[in-house]
Amino acid sequence: MKIIVLGAGVTGVASAWYLRKAGHDVTVIERRVGAGLETSFANGGQISVSHAEPWANPHAPLQILKWLGREDAPLLFRLRADWQQWRWGLEFLRNCTAARLRDNIRNLVALGNYSRAALRQLRAETGIAYDQLTRGILHFYTNTNTWRNAQQAAQLMRDAGCTLDVKTADECVAIEPALAGVRGRIAGGTYTPDDESGDAHLFTRELAALCAARGVVFRYGVTVDALARGAGNTISSVTLHSANAAAETLSVNGVVVCLGVHSARLLRPLGVDLNIYPVKGYSVTLPILDPVRASTVSLTDDEYKLVFSRLGERLRVAGTAELNGYDTALNTARCEAIVRRTQELFPGAGDVQRAQYWTGLRPATPSNVPYIGGTRFDNLYLNTGHGTLGWTQACGAGMAIAEIVSGRAPEVNFAFRKRGRAK
Ligand SMILES: Cc1cc2nc3c(=O)[nH]c(=O)nc-3n(C[C@H](O)[C@H](O)[C@H](O)COP(=O)(O)OP(=O)(O)OC[C@H]3O[C@@H](n4cnc5c(N)ncnc54)[C@H](O)[C@@H]3O)c2cc1C
Repeated sequence: MKIIVLGAGVTGVASAWYLRKAGHDVTVIERRVGAGLETSFANGGQISVSHAEPWANPHAPLQILKWLGREDAPLLFRLRADWQQWRWGLEFLRNCTAARLRDNIRNLVALGNYSRAALRQLRAETGIAYDQLTRGILHFYTNTNTWRNAQQAAQLMRDAGCTLDVKTADECVAIEPALAGVRGRIAGGTYTPDDESGDAHLFTRELAALCAARGVVFRYGVTVDALARGAGNTISSVTLHSANAAAETLSVNGVVVCLGVHSARLLRPLGVDLNIYPVKGYSVTLPILDPVRASTVSLTDDEYKLVFSRLGERLRVAGTAELNGYDTALNTARCEAIVRRTQELFPGAGDVQRAQYWTGLRPATPSNVPYIGGTRFDNLYLNTGHGTLGWTQACGAGMAIAEIVSGRAPEVNFAFRKRGRAK
């Protein structure tokens, strides 16, 4: 079947790869000049299956209220006159119950495991290299109370099937010796040896090249403006434009939407209603000055909600979450807070003078569970809304959507969207 994939972020490119593998004729439409240049560009780098707790949990409402108005808050709601933001917030609150949390974790861990296995298989098959490290993820805590609460969450992850070991401060330092300087401040940690890290942008670029070599057509610099309904319950065409050409209408057999935070706006006129809101995050990438002082095990600093991933000769530090529409401007206070914490933990590790600052918009659903599967249109498919975990889930979500488009059921117990459901 001739399939058009909309968007060449990590999700779109992974979808294209598996659709091509399944024998489809695939074209990818991307408005930027290359693959992986928006949210997939400079994320935290973690393939984090076992630390997949969604933001929506029973402790979140109180914590978010405490953070309201604090410029350096890890999760900041900037309340706006924007119905989509309020709708998202209300649904987020509905997901803060213990029962919803358990259900959301189950879905996220199932998809994450499936995805990590697909990534490993892809690596073995193609030899794709993207500054990956398979040394696990260490989540460390500097606040004793939070650490105590975290042990309950750890049990939830274990119940969902993750290997997650509780570690003392000394054990944390043994796993990541670069933490030795702050040993006295660490309350404890959890270590997930099966998790990984790597550069999502490099991966996306390399996978796009592998796709192209196998016949996938990439049309860069082309923006999708609308989808048109055809006869019966189908989408018949997409309308496109590019800088130097007149608008174009492309007939389609099937469409997979992977437009990240822009998916909902494109689909709303068709009555396909997605509750995806942009959640802005920051990253700082530092060239390494002293390799011994910079971490190599991927880390999550619970107190500041920051993740650290070693990407070859660079240290990537990412985090913070801000609900403030589609604005991607850099806020100096947030950049400084990240650099300050990095210097506190790993003094002299990275070159702050040559730091690269970036913001990206996570395509977040209130539950953090993405939309993967069919829609009310027979030939319109979704692979979007992966929020904080799009890199972790890319290969699994891509493999699953290729199965669904091919009329098969993916071999993972996940809440896929069924055909005929508008949401
Ligand atoms: C600070 C930060 C840290 C993160 N850390 C991690 C992490 O450690 N681990 C993890 O798993 N995930 C992480 N994430 C999340 C992850 O980066 C995202 O979930 C993922 O990149 C989303 O990929 P995507 O392909 O769905 O979206 P995108 O990468 O945004 O791709 C969508 C593509 O669609 C294109 N597009 C949009 N509109 C149009 C249009 N009209 N026409 C044509 N093209 C269009 C865009 O140009 C873009 O290339 C992080 C995110 C942030 C912001």
